Amino acid sequence: MKMRLGLIGYPLGSSYSRQLHEQALKALNLEGSYQLWEIPPGPDELEELTSRVEALREGKLGGINVTIPYKETVLPLADRLTPAARTIGAVNTLYREPGGNQVMGDNTDSPGFWTDLQQLLPPERQKGGGSALVLGAGGAARAVTYALASRSWRVTVAARRAAQAEELAADFRDLPGSVWPVPLTSRDGPSTTGCGLIVNATPVGMAPGLNLSPWPDYWSFPRGCVVYDLVYNPRETSLMKQAGEVNLPVRNGLGMLIEQAALAFAHWTGQPPPREIMSRTVRRQQTTFSQIKDQQQKQKE
Ligand code: NAP
Repeated sequence: MKMRLGLIGYPLGSSYSRQLHEQALKALNLEGSYQLWEIPPGPDELEELTSRVEALREGKLGGINVTIPYKETVLPLADRLTPAARTIGAVNTLYREPGGNQVMGDNTDSPGFWTDLQQLLPPERQKGGGSALVLGAGGAARAVTYALASRSWRVTVAARRAAQAEELAADFRDLPGSVWPVPLTSRDGPSTTGCGLIVNATPVGMAPGLNLSPWPDYWSFPRGCVVYDLVYNPRETSLMKQAGEVNLPVRNGLGMLIEQAALAFAHWTGQPPPREIMSRTVRRQQTTFSQIKDQQQKQKE
């Protein structure tokens, strides 16, 4: 039977998910398709979301990814949540329980981030806790902070709305690590003593703000830290350039994107995901800073 997969969100114009999953299906000789289901926010959104989840429950769909702005909205539509999805408070993958008809909600962003982070962390920091600074306190910051704090890291979360960081810290208070909320607005910047990892979990650095960085020029980077930017388009963000200039190891979020998709694919198909093919597919799509600038210029003309 053909497997019908898809992504719910709005807008979806720049999503790589279709190519990623269709190439993965093809690689495993599985018949199926992955569609982009744009649901504009409005009075009908809940009805549309509910009908997609119902189609999954009935077996008419094989799996659903969820992105902005519905990662929290779909939470109560699932029959059961994984512990990660429940604590993070966001679902990016819905699948039917193997052998049953209950709809499970999971958050694969969090393990996707952790797995890819291992490519950047020095070996001595891969086990046990460290100290990290996460910029932003939205859905992705929650997934990242969960990955770290559930592994005993001490995480400082810096957000421009202090209340958002405080709520995140309160929700994660029972994890083995610790979470400290701070404002992102101070001229001096957050304290980074002992910080070994900086993560950008804001959208700053994506088009149209390619020249922007969440790290103001007048803040200094802690010595010996590594910098992970969840943004993956452009390939090298302004934050990565700044950190690279002071010789800090950097990594963009493309590996996390691939890994979260691979974990979703495994839920839906029950098969080991073809990571190498998924990786090759998205790396082909990725653009450089100057290519995006050229596209923007053409759109203006
Ligand atoms: P979100 O829920 O909207 O949260 C964004 C966070 O960034 C909020 O705390 C927001 O604060 C803050 N923010 C936005 N603009 C800012 C600015 N100019 N200065 C300072 N803070 C700012 O979005 P999200 O789902 O967490 O996604 C965040 C980023 O991660 C996006 O770029 C997304 O594409 C990326 N992401 C990547 C992956 C991956 O696989 N690599 C996975 C998930 C997300 P306010 O609420 O005050 O605006």
